[in-house]
Formats: sequence, C-alpha cells, structure tokens
Amino acid sequence: RGLLRKTVRPFQAVAPILATGVLVVGGLLVANTEDWRKAIFALMLFSVVVGLPEGLMGFAAKFLSRLFRIPQAQLPAPSPLEQVMPAKREGSGGAPLLELRELKRSFGGVRAVDGLTMTVRAGEVHGLIGPNGSGKSTVVNVVSGLYTPTSGQMLLRGQPLPQGSLFDTARAGVARTFQNLQLFTGLTALENVMVALRGAYPRSRSLPLVLLGLGRLEERRAQADALALLEFVGLGDQARTLARDLTYGAQRFLEIARAVARKPEVLILDEPAAGLSHPDMLRQMEVIKRVHQRGVTIVLIEHHMDVISGLCDVVTVLDGGKPIAEGAPAEVKRHPKVIEAYLGEVEAGPAAEPVRAEV
Ligand code: ADP
Ligand code: MG
Repeated sequence: RGLLRKTVRPFQAVAPILATGVLVVGGLLVANTEDWRKAIFALMLFSVVVGLPEGLMGFAAKFLSRLFRIPQAQLPAPSPLEQVMPAKREGSGGAPLLELRELKRSFGGVRAVDGLTMTVRAGEVHGLIGPNGSGKSTVVNVVSGLYTPTSGQMLLRGQPLPQGSLFDTARAGVARTFQNLQLFTGLTALENVMVALRGAYPRSRSLPLVLLGLGRLEERRAQADALALLEFVGLGDQARTLARDLTYGAQRFLEIARAVARKPEVLILDEPAAGLSHPDMLRQMEVIKRVHQRGVTIVLIEHHMDVISGLCDVVTVLDGGKPIAEGAPAEVKRHPKVIEAYLGEVEAGPAAEPVRAEV
C-alpha cells in the first residue's frame, strides 16, 4: 500500500486538472440540451465533492489497494537502545555547557527577554520557570534558532551557538520540543521520528549507493532506530498511527521521541506536561529522567512545581524577561521575589484582609 501511495502521489497534483477535464468534456457532451446542462453539471460537481472527497487519484489508490490487497511491509525489529541513545559520556559533568549572556529579544516595544544571563551545566536538569508571558518560550525560540536574538551571546561548550536557524542549532547539538505541538500530523508516529533521523546515516548522502539500492537498507535502519525511540517513550505499539490520530498525551511523548532522535547534548522541553493527565504526567517525568540518565543535559520549562522539584538540580525564575532568582528548587520556592511574581504584590498587615462588600 505504501508503494502504491508513492506511485500515486505524483499524479495527485494532476488529478484536479483531470477532474476539470472530465467535467468540461462531460459538459460539452450534453451541450445540446442547454436546459439540462447546468443541472447535470451541478449534479456532477456535487457527486464528485460528496462521493470522492479524496479526489480521483485518491479514490483510485484506495480502490486498487483494496483490489490487490497489498500487504503492509513488516517493520524491522527495534534497534538496541544503546544505538539510538548512547549512554552517558563521563567526565564533563558540571562544566558550563550552554551559556546565555545578557540575552535580549524584543518584538517592537515588547521586551520579551530582557537581559538573561544563565549557565546550564553539563549533566544537569535546569528548570526555567516564571508566570505566563515572562519570556520562557521566547528564550527557547531564540536559543533553538527559531528567532534571532536582539542582542547578547549564546555559547555551547564555549563556542558561539548558530543564530536564527533551527536546522543549524539542532546540528550543533541542541534539540527542542514545542509548547504548542508541532508534529507532522499527516505522517505516522514512526515517520515523524524518522524525519529527525534524516542525515544520521552518512551513507545516505551518496547518490550512487542509493541507486545501488542501499537507500532501502538505510530506510530499514531508520525504521528500526525510530521504533526503538518510540518504545523508549512507550509508543512502540502505535508506530503506524498517524500523528493526528494519537491522543494528546501520546503526541506529547512523540515530540520528545523526535527531539531525542537527534542525539542532542542539550534537550529543551517547553512545558512538556501542559494539558497532560496526572498519570501521563508521572509517566513523562519518568521518560525525562531516563533521557537525563543517558547523559543528556535538559532545560525544562514547567508550571507544575512538583515536576520541577522532582527533576531539577537548579531553577532560574524569569519575570518580565529578566531573571529574578536562581537556585535549588526548594530555595527558589521560598524566594520573596518569586512568591511576589506568582501571587502579585504580597501586602502585610490588616490591609491584606479581604474586604466584605456592604449591600
Ligand atoms: P511565556 O512562554 O513565559 O509564557 P512568551 O515567551 O511566550 O512567554 O512571551 C513573552 C512575551 O513576548 C509576551 O508578552 C508575548 O506576548 C511576547 N511575544 C512572544 N512571542 C512573540 C511574537 N512572535 N511576536 C510578538 N510578541 C511576542
Ligand atoms: Mg510559553
């Protein structure tokens, strides 16, 4: 069926032209009966829209694949986890890995990030918290290359991080997930992860080898690797499900699998638990812990304080684009500025008592 779909795909662009042709020719054939022409034309149009919503070629593909019962190719066995997620490299723990210095980004008059200096150390889980609109996602967008910084420096292992290119940043070793999911909804879970594996196998860049049929071998290997990553996040049995048909929770796990597929040094998770049910949230904490145990440094943006306390070594608190506190989760939670940022002005004395309205 996959093969058939591939053969049919190039024709799909032509299908609307064909359909128009059929309608025009059909219209001409009944041209003599002028009175009926419009009615028949409308009927034809109507039946195509209602009867063939996937278009002529889509219908043909469905029909043919049913006719010949083309079996789906078996998926290969998943690769060993060691191959897709190499275990911890010793030695660099604690050294500055990702450094942001006086990072700024404004949108017109809005200073979304306004001078953030922060050091993420190798092997740590670094929390980034702050009220809504405090600039957390903008930090992620700038660091990951979606936006360019207005000013400031970003260093990875002391080298400048590429700016303004998601692709280059991912290649440098920084992967991310999105607060609002950004999956390829029309691809399967497996294919979503395979996309991230593109270029992971040096051989696939050589055209003669692809022509010799080695491209197919590469694809099998990518499937095996992707499957291992899906199993890692607990989606092994949904490899063939279209991303848009996965539950919301599963989509969140898929985003993590896809980001991890890049074998990043730093993984930035932007509110990965947003909207998750409690059991899913616990499962996700386990997944994040296991990614971390394999030596990936993590920057975690999160609202749930228990997730932050459970996972983070150090937390930076943002408010109005500026860092207002940094330290261990327990310390940061008690910091007066943090309490103020989250709860608004904390007033002392009797004025803070609720005022009862008189009727
Ligand atoms: P957080 O993730 O902490 O909730 P954001 O980084 O999304 O905060 O937003 C910080 C501020 O920057 C907000 O005031 C938001 O409106 C603004 N902002 C973020 N992205 C854009 C953008 N692309 N264009 C204009 N303003 C933006
Ligand atoms: Mg955000």
